Amino acid sequence: METANNVPKYVFSFEEGDGKDKKLLGGKGANLCEMTQIGLNVPPGFVISTVACLAYLDKNALPDGVMDQVHDHMKALEAKTGKGFGNPENPLLVSVRSGSAMSMPGMMDTILNLGLNSETLQGEIRHTGDPRFGYDAYRRFIQLFGKVALGVPDKLFDQQFELVKDKAHVTEDVGLSATDLQDISERFLKVVEEHTGRPFPMDPYEQLEIAIRAVFNSWGGKRAVDYRRQFKITPDMANGTAVNVVTMVFGNRGNDSATGVAFTRNPATGENKLYGEYLVNAQGEDVVAGIRTPKAIDRLSDEMPEMGRQLEELRQKLETHYHEIQDFEFTIERGQLFALQTRNGKMNAHAMVRTSVEMVAEGLVTKEQALLRIKPDLLEQMLFPHLDPKVKAAPVATGLPASPGAASGIAVFDADRAEQMGRDLSLNVILVREETKPEDIHGFFASKGILTSRGGKTSHAAVVARGMGKPCVAGAEGISVDVNRRVAYVGDTSFREGEVITIDGTSGKVYLGQIPTVEPEFSPELGTLLAWADEFAKLKVMANADTPADALRALKYGAVGIGLARTERMFNDVDRLPIVIEMIVADTAEEREEALSRLLPLQRADFQGLFEVMAPNPVTIRLLDPPIHEFLPAEEQLEREIADLRHLAEVTRGMTVLAGAMALIHASETARAEIDGLRRQVDPMTVEEAIGKKEAMLRKVRSLYETNPMLGHRGVRLGITFPEIYRMQIRAILEAAAESTKKGVAVFPQIKVPQVCTAEELRRVKRMVDEIHAEVAAKYGRPVAFKFGTMIEVVRACMRAESLAEEAEFFSFGTNDLTQAVFSFSREDAENKFLPLYNQTGILADNPFDVLDVKGVGKLMKLAVDWGRSVKPGLHVGICGEHGGHPESIAFCQDAGLDYVSCSAPRVPVARLAAAHAALNPKG
Ligand code: PEP
Ligand code: MG
Repeated sequence: METANNVPKYVFSFEEGDGKDKKLLGGKGANLCEMTQIGLNVPPGFVISTVACLAYLDKNALPDGVMDQVHDHMKALEAKTGKGFGNPENPLLVSVRSGSAMSMPGMMDTILNLGLNSETLQGEIRHTGDPRFGYDAYRRFIQLFGKVALGVPDKLFDQQFELVKDKAHVTEDVGLSATDLQDISERFLKVVEEHTGRPFPMDPYEQLEIAIRAVFNSWGGKRAVDYRRQFKITPDMANGTAVNVVTMVFGNRGNDSATGVAFTRNPATGENKLYGEYLVNAQGEDVVAGIRTPKAIDRLSDEMPEMGRQLEELRQKLETHYHEIQDFEFTIERGQLFALQTRNGKMNAHAMVRTSVEMVAEGLVTKEQALLRIKPDLLEQMLFPHLDPKVKAAPVATGLPASPGAASGIAVFDADRAEQMGRDLSLNVILVREETKPEDIHGFFASKGILTSRGGKTSHAAVVARGMGKPCVAGAEGISVDVNRRVAYVGDTSFREGEVITIDGTSGKVYLGQIPTVEPEFSPELGTLLAWADEFAKLKVMANADTPADALRALKYGAVGIGLARTERMFNDVDRLPIVIEMIVADTAEEREEALSRLLPLQRADFQGLFEVMAPNPVTIRLLDPPIHEFLPAEEQLEREIADLRHLAEVTRGMTVLAGAMALIHASETARAEIDGLRRQVDPMTVEEAIGKKEAMLRKVRSLYETNPMLGHRGVRLGITFPEIYRMQIRAILEAAAESTKKGVAVFPQIKVPQVCTAEELRRVKRMVDEIHAEVAAKYGRPVAFKFGTMIEVVRACMRAESLAEEAEFFSFGTNDLTQAVFSFSREDAENKFLPLYNQTGILADNPFDVLDVKGVGKLMKLAVDWGRSVKPGLHVGICGEHGGHPESIAFCQDAGLDYVSCSAPRVPVARLAAAHAALNPKG
């Protein structure tokens, strides 16, 4: 868009801006335009676009025409308000706020009361007849402008503020008189002059231009950059910030004025009721910063009934217009209600799910919209732990339940330490502060939970913790935090840095020490929402589960079968491992068969358990995969044990000598009996036998040693070289199925073979399966239905997909191994040594073990699917690597034509919702 003289249009009044164009006007600006245009009472103002921001950052100079357009819009504001910018008689004051396309709470700064100077201040005082109000506004402006636009450290202002408070013998800001506030303003002007070397700018247009530049610059500031990096906000999501210039309205004009923040519904529970806080006779920043503890919004109707009614009306209008829960700010100036800002409310998972279900019932949104408004990953929060109700512990303090969930960890009193201990030392940390500020954000990332002693449910700590899904207790006023001494006092007790505390963000309680937590329940609303998800989803969601307990949980979370049961996990059970070891160290096939025959009934029972829990859904069992030495003790451990046994052998020999010598030295009968007793306890022959066994095992361990075990003797290679093992497992699977069928349970076993690289391997295993199947059918008098398939987790398997498809009825992509194979990275080494740097420096955008590498691994998968189906059109294909529970990867799986994803039980709800999103928003 261009203006008359070919200069782009950079500035839009609230009446003309396109409320849908968040990229141009930022979320806040677009919503201010939209609210104005739907007739809500918004103070007049205008938006300077993100295009101007980018042009400014590019050249480090405001583009031509911006300030002219700003000037024209200020004139229009003057006309609308009947006030004059810089006019001492009736001054127009404005706020200057940032706002990008994505909501970045607290990331960029706001300046209030701009336009005040020594002259307009007097005009404002005359106009309002309230010197205290005038000086209060002035000192706030100088501090905010000084900090945000001129870079003067807050603490220089705070020191002066405290000095005047001391002098006036007051503890609360409200106790300060007009003269005190005048004194503070003068001190603040000096602070600015001393720090910047120049007097505070008194020309309102100069102030405005400096403020606009400062907002633009804040887009490139560390806090904003860190935030964007952490939340992966890319330029096509938000590029540059807009600047909103809005006529000031004052919530601090007396007891008929107030300011507040509210959600149209409760963001913690989803309850359909206005939720928020307000402060009478205060400015907006007071609520958010948590300087005074605000009142619950319910009380507004008692204090100002008409305002309560209007606020309820505003809530209805916002929801009906946006079809979404809104998080809005309002100000009441002398009995008149203004909407200052609105945005979609950030809520925890529980509230998102409940509101989705209720809004569909209210006819406010469709099922599709109800599903799409929830990010699948958010659902994991619903599976958050809470405190074990059986444990009776007395809280030491109670604050506001600001973000649900419970966490224990060591108390840490500042964000840097939290980062050091939480991120670098991997300790569980609870960040404890009086109140938090945006600059503490890195401490949040590194902490398990947040505890503050001041501020409300909409304070910075509460909002940010909720967004991150971390537990937070805010405003625990019984706690006094001494950051310098690193100690918090609670009544007559205290806790220091490093001591463990527990917070419960659902109840607001704080405990000393560690309280056990338990898994939460799956709510009925979540059940409803996920049932809708299943109506739309194309991909089926199965679970990776190895035990009946896992399978039960997966079933509860809605899995429609088991996509991967890793049989090796069963081998590691305490009652199995000794038999498994015997099987491995066996010297002959007969000895091995003997150990395997003892394992058979155990495995059969395992499989039967899985089949019966999951019936009538399919259960896919993978034959043994890991290198066999993983079940044996480590070489060093065996060497140590053998050395100890040898030492013991020498001791027992010495005892034999001693017993003989006792006879010679006429020791008493009792002494001789004691020595004999000891000798009998440790029989030299037993020791020798033990040494022999351990040495045999050591030889076995050494003979099984592999340089690269993950690329070595594992998976199907093991099954081919030790066929007895696979035979036992196949028999256990088929017999378990036959037993269950006999009991009338409908079971669908699927056998899959790991690490396959050539069809010949599959043919060999299939031959075993067919032979054993015939035996089992004969034994039980009927055949067992089953499917036979292969894991696809090596590159050659993808390249040979056509010939594998001739043998396999299904493919299951093991993308954990396939990713290692495609990148030639070993996962552990990559994640420990170089991947973090690769991600930080942008060599790789993501960790490919978390986010499926669509361009490489994904491309290969697509080829394999197409090749496989060219031979067998109905080939059933799924994924069972960890990517099967990752939303973006799930979207890719749908595009690649997969039939199902399989992931761990707690990811099943996430995957079901992600599958619905993929179906509703197909990429291809
Ligand atoms: C895989 O490789 O993706 C897989 C599922 O197998 P595992 O993780 O057990 O190696
Ligand atoms: Mg694997």
